[in-house]
Amino acid sequence: MSHHQIVIVGGGTAGITVAARLRNANPSLDIAIIEPSQKHYYQPLWTLVGGGMFKPEESGRDEADLIPYGVTWIKSFVDTFTPQSNHLATRDGETISYDYLIVAPGIQLNWDKVKGLKEAVGKEGVCSNYSIETVASTWESIRNMKQGVALFTQPAGAVKCGGAPQKICYLAEDYFRRNGVRDDVEVIFTTAGPRLFAVDQYREVLEKVAARKGVEPRFRHNLVEIRSATKEAVYRHMDTDEEIIIQYDMIHVTPPMSAPDFVANSELADEAGWVDVDKHTLQHTRFSNVFGIGDASSLPTSKTGAAVRKQAPVLVNNLLSLIQQEPLTASYDGYTSCPVVTGYDSLVLAEFDYSGQPAETFPFAQSKERFSMFLLKKFGLPALYWHGMLRGRV
Ligand code: FAD
Repeated sequence: MSHHQIVIVGGGTAGITVAARLRNANPSLDIAIIEPSQKHYYQPLWTLVGGGMFKPEESGRDEADLIPYGVTWIKSFVDTFTPQSNHLATRDGETISYDYLIVAPGIQLNWDKVKGLKEAVGKEGVCSNYSIETVASTWESIRNMKQGVALFTQPAGAVKCGGAPQKICYLAEDYFRRNGVRDDVEVIFTTAGPRLFAVDQYREVLEKVAARKGVEPRFRHNLVEIRSATKEAVYRHMDTDEEIIIQYDMIHVTPPMSAPDFVANSELADEAGWVDVDKHTLQHTRFSNVFGIGDASSLPTSKTGAAVRKQAPVLVNNLLSLIQQEPLTASYDGYTSCPVVTGYDSLVLAEFDYSGQPAETFPFAQSKERFSMFLLKKFGLPALYWHGMLRGRV
């Protein structure tokens, strides 16, 4: 059995950011990150990859180059947690013990929850921005669309970046328009939810965007099956349970998501499967030496990398306080952000907190579509991510 003072599960956005901040605060800490992947992806770029602005490989870096200096990388999957005795087991059968545990394995994509999707995605007009394996097929599908129905879906339940299913819809619509095929393409956005966005101020703007673009929103539509042979998308209406079939020529699918099974099946989980943490301190509600952060956590806010950027300093401050046996004073207010791309030169930068009130960064109305905010998304935020956030600087 190996032992580390601090063990971080997951070397994604949250895991790397927290490790970097901890090392910056105290280089003598003994930290290990357990992460199976060779590559680390800046997932927000996948919206722009799907829209043809970047190549998929431009969204990734080698994980080895991002693990902070002095932090041990254990290249494995965590399989089980035993929090009463402060250890966990990896899929390789290794047992690792810790003094403090940070759980950050992200959200799980459940492709198999939509019948036929796993077999169909990536081919013949069925595409998705939600994985590195399938994101190239989005751009291919959009480019190949000359006429017919372009469908975009959003499933029931939590997804990472709740605005992303809409962003690719607006980009595709803009592409069709710029390339002279818009009159021959019907663009439909289906969502299992009851509205386009949770926060009223941004929802009102996005409703106008959809109306102006002629994008038809269909609410309470939950995709349950793809029949790729006949190009049919089968939905269940969330209220009436009625079956609805829409014929598509291309379909961008946002797969159903959930807490990772190995978290949901552990004692760390809340009833819904997420790592059960206090929504302000990020400390586990039952195991005081455990913290949770990011998409896998129970934090009741929209799951984004921007949220992680504000959660990380809170977690690090509170963990350092705990190590020094001092009270936990840092508090997370639920801040999250969703840069909703509305075309190839416009973006609405939504930012809000637990109260559902806008918590905006810039001194102008961010609910307005802006070219400057599009440039921020395309060039500013990726640089901020790789050079600032993952280095523990911002
Ligand atoms: P991740 O970054 O997903 O990292 C989880 C890590 O855990 C992964 O590296 C994974 O390999 C690892 N892991 C999984 N299972 C195990 C295991 N068993 N053992 C050990 N490690 C494991 N966010 C924004 O802020 N703005 C945006 O515009 C935006 N747009 C997005 C668009 C798309 C298409 C997508 C897919 C996401 C978008 N996001 C956006 C969301 C953002 O990428 C995530 O919210 C963020 O990456 C969450 O960080 P995380 O560390 O919790 O999870």
